[in-house]
Amino acid sequence: MAKTDWTHDELILAGALVVRNGWRELRTADHEVVALSVLLRSLPIHDPDALADPKFRSPGSVSRKTGDFASNHRTYAGKPTRCGEATRLMVTEFTARETEMLELARTIEENALSGRFEGLPFEPEEVEEEASGLEGVLLARLVRQRERDPKLRRKKIEQVLRSRGSLDCEVCGFNFGRSYGPLGGAYIEVHHVTPLHVVGKRETKLGDLACLCSNCHRMCHRPRNGERWRTPDALRRMMRDAAGGV
Ligand SMILES: [Zn+2]
Ligand SMILES: [Zn+2]
Repeated sequence: MAKTDWTHDELILAGALVVRNGWRELRTADHEVVALSVLLRSLPIHDPDALADPKFRSPGSVSRKTGDFASNHRTYAGKPTRCGEATRLMVTEFTARETEMLELARTIEENALSGRFEGLPFEPEEVEEEASGLEGVLLARLVRQRERDPKLRRKKIEQVLRSRGSLDCEVCGFNFGRSYGPLGGAYIEVHHVTPLHVVGKRETKLGDLACLCSNCHRMCHRPRNGERWRTPDALRRMMRDAAGGV
């Protein structure tokens, strides 16, 4: 991916703008285009070299991107622009599940404007070769930060110990204390079971979290086939399929 390629997060925000405009292109002088240009340049996902160019994500380039979305939509009568695979994929997503994608865009926008993405670390999954994930990386970073919140984790662990008596992985049943003795006592990782576009909108509740071993947790976040997050239920199904449906 080139330094100047539009990321999924940016394409989600641009796509939402076009959808709200009835799948029509927006002009450079449009105040929404200008606002999006400022917002995109502020996102903590860009290479400083790219940002040094004032034309990078300028209102002109945002307007052109809205033209890509509009002209690659099925309602457009003229010739589609050559916009690249990622944009075409996003046009398909917005067409197939408009409400959900608009909600996702709104959540990214609100969190970006509140500065909640600032200073969040890269996640190991982001540098994987196939790191795709249609939801973008920003909300995924935010969720991982919340999952590591020690206070939240402690509360979840206390709740599970009170109700079940032991801390087993909800997918595979692994128990750190049983395998590692006292070293593994009361250890487990917590995972957000609510989708990213929902998570970013509100405070995390204990019911949003599941307890997982480190292997299952990593597999829940591994980007594959356009997803960078999955539920314990989905992972359990995959394990069952891998085991031959037994
Ligand atoms: Zn597990
Ligand atoms: Zn997780």
